[in-house]
Amino acid sequence: EAPTKKVAVTGAAGAIGYAMLMRIASGQMFGPHVPVELQLLETEQGLKPLRGVAMEIKDGAFPLVRGIKQTADPNTGFGDADVAVLVGARPRGPGMERADLMSANAAIFAVQGKAINDAAKRDIRVLVVGNPANTNALVAAANAPDIDPAQFMAMTRLDQNRAMGQVAIKTGTPVRDVERVVIWGNHSSTQYPDLSNALVNGKPALDVINDTKWVREEFIPRVQKRGAEIIGARGASSATSAASAAIDHMHDLFVGSGDAWQSLAIRSDGSYGIDKDIWYSVPCRCPGDGVYERVLDIPPPDEYSAAMMDATRKELLEERDAVKHLLPA
Ligand code: NDP
Repeated sequence: EAPTKKVAVTGAAGAIGYAMLMRIASGQMFGPHVPVELQLLETEQGLKPLRGVAMEIKDGAFPLVRGIKQTADPNTGFGDADVAVLVGARPRGPGMERADLMSANAAIFAVQGKAINDAAKRDIRVLVVGNPANTNALVAAANAPDIDPAQFMAMTRLDQNRAMGQVAIKTGTPVRDVERVVIWGNHSSTQYPDLSNALVNGKPALDVINDTKWVREEFIPRVQKRGAEIIGARGASSATSAASAAIDHMHDLFVGSGDAWQSLAIRSDGSYGIDKDIWYSVPCRCPGDGVYERVLDIPPPDEYSAAMMDATRKELLEERDAVKHLLPA
């Protein structure tokens, strides 16, 4: 039998956590032969609903589940963890400024970074979903000096999936035949969903679509603002698609997705001319076992793409500046 993966999930009683846990339990994150131990973290107030969530997981009678821990203590929650999915975050309250939201979340993710540093396995892989996800990943990594910051990622897979879905609809192709769609930058409305390298049935997507106006005036804004569109229709934030994207991200990271390109928001190493040390989404290949490799063999961006990549880069620098006072020296 494969070794058990200890998976910490924060905000486990929230809407995304609720949609994600059953899928982890059923083996969809690490494959059908990998047992999992769930380490569910919540706030003190979240512990009661979490008890209900844990009961439902038990009622799923999943053969792969080897244990369910419930706690409000980060050191317990991250104890010996192989994987962490950080979903719990402070939602924007009425009258709350962007800077207040940044600070409130930076405080949460600083605590969690320290706890990961103190308690988790040294080769842990961390995926940040809670917003502002890229900057929360930066804060968590900065507070975990003994863990390689490359092991901290923020999620832009939902944006990638949304973009692939839109291209599939536009071209009347199954989403399976849409490849190499890239999300650059921040998981926010400044992100750049880029079709420059994308393929539909193996042909350049921009040629197949052959409609620059659609790409720039419909496709890009729609992907950037898809969250708001879903709130408008559903009366609540997207949750099940966010959970599904987190499963996809971790599945591809651990099980591998061969030659396919996946967008991951990772610490910039200066590639593509992006400032070092911000968490910026770039295309990667995932060979498996927790490894990712940037896709570097691509043509330089044209003028339009360069401007789009720059706008989201600038937003990430501003976000970093807004939390700077909370980062350890
Ligand atoms: P959700 O589960 O809906 O969302 C959680 C976080 O994910 C939010 O920051 C949300 O950002 C973000 N997110 C990222 N992508 C998406 C997306 N596509 N759609 C929606 N959200 C997205 O929130 P709930 O309020 O239902 O649950 C949060 C839980 O976290 C609560 O149970 C709370 O108690 C817990 N919590 C736990 C903490 C801990 O474990 N220490 C700390 C703080 C909270 P946004 O809404 O801005 O889009």
